[in-house]
Amino acid sequence: MPGRPEGDPSVILGAGYAGLATWHAAHQRSRGRWPILLVDRHPVHVLRTELYRVGRIAAAEGALSRWAIPLRQALRGDSGAIRTGTVEAIDLADRTVTLDGTPLRFRELVICLGSVPAYYGVAGAAENTLDVYRLSDAQKLAQAIRSALGGRGREGAPVRVAVIGGGSTGTEVAAEIATVRWEKVVGRPCPPVRVLLVAGKLPLLAGLPEPLVHHARALLGRAGVVLDEGRNVTEVHRESLTLEDGTVLPFDVAVWAAGIHPPPVVEAMEAAHGRGHRLIVDEHLELPDHPGVFALGDVAEFIDPRTHLAVPATAQAALAEAPIAGANLVARRRGRPLAPFQYREKGVIVALGIGHGSGMVGHLSVWGRPAALLQRAVQVGHRYAAERGGTPPGL
Ligand SMILES: Cc1cc2nc3c(=O)[nH]c(=O)nc-3n(C[C@H](O)[C@H](O)[C@H](O)COP(=O)(O)OP(=O)(O)OC[C@H]3O[C@@H](n4cnc5c(N)ncnc54)[C@H](O)[C@@H]3O)c2cc1C
Repeated sequence: MPGRPEGDPSVILGAGYAGLATWHAAHQRSRGRWPILLVDRHPVHVLRTELYRVGRIAAAEGALSRWAIPLRQALRGDSGAIRTGTVEAIDLADRTVTLDGTPLRFRELVICLGSVPAYYGVAGAAENTLDVYRLSDAQKLAQAIRSALGGRGREGAPVRVAVIGGGSTGTEVAAEIATVRWEKVVGRPCPPVRVLLVAGKLPLLAGLPEPLVHHARALLGRAGVVLDEGRNVTEVHRESLTLEDGTVLPFDVAVWAAGIHPPPVVEAMEAAHGRGHRLIVDEHLELPDHPGVFALGDVAEFIDPRTHLAVPATAQAALAEAPIAGANLVARRRGRPLAPFQYREKGVIVALGIGHGSGMVGHLSVWGRPAALLQRAVQVGHRYAAERGGTPPGL
């Protein structure tokens, strides 16, 4: 870049699925010839796809190393590459990010800052619901259920959990909470936990294949989850929520899983934003008019030229994008042509309570225990690679 010394580092923001895998791809190709920094507010890689496991998080009672892999380990001991801090601003014109008040200059930038809950202006939703989008939030939810169970004996009134959002996150959380053996978690008899899944106006598991949804409905029923469909939530109070037709539903604990959008620091960027404020990227995962600045994972909107649809905000997509983003970062530095990204979904599996799931892999429908085992194998594969500083294999 004009006026910039050759030595300015490449900077990757976010050490989640997209950022960690991009770091590995870029690091391998650059062969250590210039610094490639990985920035995150925490010095750990969080296994976000496993945060629906609220029962296990509750049982862990704060020992959360199962869900968070130290970056030192995930980067094979290259601790010089890690910068811990909160990204407060991203200035593309000045090629600087602000990290805890301190400017950090970059030559190439990869934005992988993930997503935060979207409340769509629903009054009281942010204040009165919990969620599973961050490890600390999943921990708060687990603690809230423990506390709600705490004051009641076996004969006490059931604990009512309302999960808002009928996408895969809401469905997974609802089924998980309904099938956890809470008396084992809290270590004494406790009342039942009744789960209501308020799916809203969108169809349950909208956009996922019909056979998957069909089995998911059956498994939700078997788990004892009650479904409310076709009505959006308009207000959330401390102990009840209101639906658009005025129905009031009481709860002890409410979980928000109705959608995501990019973090505020990304929304505030002077760049082209697409649906839900995701950053628009071209076929090279690069921001139009900003050479050397890439975005991927939940923050980015990549429109697949074959289907004209946005690639979904999933870890699977983030991990598929990362090798291309890493290669293109290095290509930009070396003045070489960039590679295009092409997305092929391998399959999708939704966890539906302890030991059950529903999915599609290619044209094959898989459900029940085999689906859960397959999903677990994929998650364990990712964890295994990350713990050993290997390249995440993809979900
Ligand atoms: C419960 C649950 C289950 C899921 N299950 C699946 C699944 O089975 N399969 C699947 O493919 N997808 C699944 N997903 C979706 C998947 O987790 C996300 O799509 C994926 O995490 C996106 O990767 P990412 O790298 O873009 O963001 P993330 O993995 O969220 O990483 C973003 C990183 O940026 C950091 N960060 C954010 N803001 C700042 C800041 N201002 N300063 C510094 N650091 C910051 C965060 O700490 C984080 O480490 C699930 C999501 C949830 C919540």
